Amino acid sequence: MSICYIDGVWRPTAQCTLPVTDLVIQRGVGVFDSLRIYRRKALAITAHMKRLEGSAVSAGIMIDGKDIIKDMTRIVREGALRDDCPDEGDCIAKVYITGGDSIDHGYFTNPRYFVIFEGGTKILPEEYKKGVALQPTSERRPYPLVKSINYLFGLMQGAGLDDVLECLYCPDGLVMETLRSSFFICRDGKIITAPIGSVLGGVTRSIVLELAREAGFTVEERCPRVEELALADEAFLTSSWKEVMPVVRVGETVIADGGSGPVAAHLQKLYRENIDKWLDK
Ligand SMILES: *Cc1c(COP(=O)(O)O)cnc(C)c1O
Repeated sequence: MSICYIDGVWRPTAQCTLPVTDLVIQRGVGVFDSLRIYRRKALAITAHMKRLEGSAVSAGIMIDGKDIIKDMTRIVREGALRDDCPDEGDCIAKVYITGGDSIDHGYFTNPRYFVIFEGGTKILPEEYKKGVALQPTSERRPYPLVKSINYLFGLMQGAGLDDVLECLYCPDGLVMETLRSSFFICRDGKIITAPIGSVLGGVTRSIVLELAREAGFTVEERCPRVEELALADEAFLTSSWKEVMPVVRVGETVIADGGSGPVAAHLQKLYRENIDKWLDK
């Protein structure tokens, strides 16, 4: 069962509500972050909370002087240890800050916040083996450094397509990131991924790049051109929940031979083996 902390109390998520006056409902004003909890310990909690803070500040949601980030950090840790934490604390914590009810010269002065803990569907080894397909779109994700709650325009890009996980943003012929994940190609022994600023600073992205560099891989932080997808030896995406997931097709373009590749498998293994280093103590 999913649990949620809102207005100072823990409840089953199904019993939690927001006023219809909140600007998150009326205007889509809200930011969030998503943390993986392993064995009741949050992964890279400081990095996630810093990113959440940055998202809120960039969006004009006024959290300064309100100790919201500090309180949310406490809530994540507390929730992970609760008896009713989903899947015995092997789950996801989603931390939200909404615009609240008031706007003052473009600033949202009275935000609300809440945290949801939910169990995700565990990814099986055969799913990592099979990989996923993406749908390219020439749309651009606005304000890439802000993790906004508004996924509508990205979701529309993948609507109605079979066997497609989500869209891959490729504005102006450059490959950026997917709807919810960082994206990488491997070519001639190098790992190539868009630089932060063009894309969100994925927390999994930074851990995987650190592990890859330690393992001797050369990393190029630049946006691959769309034409390079057809030339790639493999491709993969990273996110807190998916970890390192092979990408075997982008639209009509089959990546290499259409199967998962050795680099993604190696990085996924390294990620799992080293995860303790990034877990809450
Ligand atoms: C959440 C998200 C990611 C992945 O971030 P992680 O910190 O690795 O989970 C990447 N890109 C976008 C657009 C996202 O929303």
